[in-house]
Amino acid sequence: MTDVKTGSRTIETKSGANFTCAHFGEFANLADHETTIATRTVRGKVFLKEFVNFTGMEISYTLIPAGKHTPFVHHHKQDEEAYIFIQGSGRMEVDDEIMDVSEGTIVRVATAGKRAIGNNSDRPLVYICVQAKEGSLEQFTFEDGVRDDEPPKV
Ligand code: ZN
Repeated sequence: MTDVKTGSRTIETKSGANFTCAHFGEFANLADHETTIATRTVRGKVFLKEFVNFTGMEISYTLIPAGKHTPFVHHHKQDEEAYIFIQGSGRMEVDDEIMDVSEGTIVRVATAGKRAIGNNSDRPLVYICVQAKEGSLEQFTFEDGVRDDEPPKV
């Protein structure tokens, strides 16, 4: 067990030879986390790579409070992103397109897409963002997964 601090929260992590596990608690409490992007401290955002040691992707949790929006528009050099909305509702812009988003919406954005997310509701908007190198996926699901010959222990 290792404890990692993020904002006012302490995250307990556990690692084994082939896994790392971290528990961040309920998404409703994401506002207690903070992360620094360049010189700006952003509340309600956690990049997970440093906690679970991803090697082929980055994933972040983000909570945007009611009436707020992401602090800037951005695009990427080589990573595509999937925005998976899991709580609340709001709007997402990609280039000149503005979409309504809510729990259950997923938006894939190519590297060049200029993106931002706003919460025009009166409840928190929570999403998970997965970023991975665009064009890098060679096999997946049953092409990549290998069934092992043992029963589950759980
Ligand atoms: Zn991004």
